[in-house]
Amino acid sequence: MRHLWELCLLLLLLLASQGQGVKALPTAHLNQSCRLTAAESATEPACSPELNLRHIQLLKRYMRPELDACQDFYAYACGNWRSVHKMGESAMSLSGARIDQRYVELFERLLHVPRSTEHSLPLYGKLLRYYHSCRALGKPRLRRYLEQLPHIGGSHWADLLAVLGRYGYHEHYVKIEVSQHNASQHMIVVMPHNYYLNLSLSGSIYNALRRHTHGQLPSLKQLTEQFKQLEQTLQELAQPPSGSSDEDTVSTYTLEQLQQELPGLNWTHVLHLQLGAIYPGSYQLLADDLPALRQLIGYLNRADARLLQLYSWARFLQHLMQLPHNPLSDPQPSFSASSATSCVQHMRKTLYLAMNFAYERNYYGKQRQADEHVIFGVFEELKQQFAQQLRLNTLGLNATLLDALLDKVQGLRINVGNLPRNVSDQFYEECVQHWRVGNDFYENHLNSLLHYYDHLAELERTEDAALRQVWFSFNHHGPELLDNIDATPYFYCLGSIIIMPYAYMQLPLYESQFWPALLYGDLANTLGHEMLHSIDTYFVDYDAQGEMRDYSDQLVLNKNYLKAVNCLNDSEHVMLNERIADISGTRLALNTYMKDPLERRHNGRLYFVQFAQFFCGEEADIYHDTGSKRLNYALAQMPEFAEVFNCAPGTPMNPVSRCSFW
Ligand SMILES: [Zn+2]
Repeated sequence: MRHLWELCLLLLLLLASQGQGVKALPTAHLNQSCRLTAAESATEPACSPELNLRHIQLLKRYMRPELDACQDFYAYACGNWRSVHKMGESAMSLSGARIDQRYVELFERLLHVPRSTEHSLPLYGKLLRYYHSCRALGKPRLRRYLEQLPHIGGSHWADLLAVLGRYGYHEHYVKIEVSQHNASQHMIVVMPHNYYLNLSLSGSIYNALRRHTHGQLPSLKQLTEQFKQLEQTLQELAQPPSGSSDEDTVSTYTLEQLQQELPGLNWTHVLHLQLGAIYPGSYQLLADDLPALRQLIGYLNRADARLLQLYSWARFLQHLMQLPHNPLSDPQPSFSASSATSCVQHMRKTLYLAMNFAYERNYYGKQRQADEHVIFGVFEELKQQFAQQLRLNTLGLNATLLDALLDKVQGLRINVGNLPRNVSDQFYEECVQHWRVGNDFYENHLNSLLHYYDHLAELERTEDAALRQVWFSFNHHGPELLDNIDATPYFYCLGSIIIMPYAYMQLPLYESQFWPALLYGDLANTLGHEMLHSIDTYFVDYDAQGEMRDYSDQLVLNKNYLKAVNCLNDSEHVMLNERIADISGTRLALNTYMKDPLERRHNGRLYFVQFAQFFCGEEADIYHDTGSKRLNYALAQMPEFAEVFNCAPGTPMNPVSRCSFW
């Protein structure tokens, strides 16, 4: 009897846990409406139940519904993620890897099918040659980079520096760089030696120098010592004196003024050499810390020219090797599948526009129209809701500041994918016209850098308003941009624009045919998060045109604002601006989507489980906490979550007190 009773109990338990598994995401009363069936798009296909149900099955695979969602929602929604995916894999990293794979397939197909239509476009021919030169790479031969540099008469430190600057390298001695200034302008910036970065003279860099100088070099040990002393002197000259205030020392100067202030360099000559144009004396540029620049230039003009030259070459090589996804830094650059992927990753960084054009044309273009219909629709709803919330003015801001923030919210833009909108194929053809690609990887790499930075310099001085507008309608990434900045959607403060990269626009995070709970579960939360970044503690100071204002100085005078910030800032480890975007972005998405109690009852659980997907595999990085911490903290702040999962008051996901912010 006893055994039978135990068996019954076991069966009951099994049934109960299975039953709970099914009940975890009930589908019987789900809202199956579809944004694409709106009147204006009656010809579009209806949302596919198969696709949605298949996705819900996938969500269930990651869940551990036997756990208590009110104790730890991350464990409940993502508890099985690690048994399905490897360490380090998140929804976004898997998505990025799928895109890499598509590029590999595309290039391999084109290499094997010479009659493909793509071959008629010069852009594809260049991409293929580049890919081929990368695949053919053998052992690294760093001196090849130095051999490609143009010969300049003489050995003045500033001339070589200007030449290296053409390839986007400008970190030591005196830094001359073109960078984006606001939503419609680039500027030339002159800065002192960056003493945060140093040279680590590796054996391979030393060997490249030795070959390049035909053996005319001190020993590795001696040279390392000489470089160290040089760096020490440069740091002393560039570092502000201790005790000086850390106020902003950047100012605008005309070229003429700069020449008067810093006569140790011929600025017209140096700018011409680096940026390829003769700038008039009235030209305006930015310069930082003139006293430090003056001291540095004075010292460099007197120092050993040969040592300065060697140091520049070594730093340049180190910089090239440290660029994200340089395949030469890959331990096994041989003919292998991994090499194909590393070449594609390298090309995605280095040939941003051309690579994204190919992706748009071969893959993304087919879904763009449907995506824009849905994403712009949700974005507009969120914007209206955001403005409505701000107008309630719960913090009691003064009218001028409130208006400025409202302007900013109304002015937010969005870019779907990684290219400018509405430009013709002609635009891309012209863009790549002067980009030279041959058979040698080293030459190709340098020429591509040259192409990118030449373009930046031209963009800075062009008067063509239409062209400027195109280039400022998206974020044209530089080759040095780190993956973790652009792999997921992000808010770009200078352009006041939200970028939704291709990697986001696919399952499991997004699909234009998602039912509302799935669609808003991630898309509205992601957009909400990025929109809130526009007024988080870091970015609030930029206005809609990307100009710096003093909004945060005004905000900290407001007691309610300070109270709200302090409530979220509960330990020194909090990434405050991310937490603000998480909490207020989640609130904004909820307010936009879940007003109706019936919607909450029937679709609430699915909405929150879909929301969890982004966080399931996310580990902490320098900008973000772990996915589990972010997800649980954000949802514990939402009483709607506790309502949907019937969490008793005082449980971790239904705390007694909450913070409120925007
Ligand atoms: Zn963020």
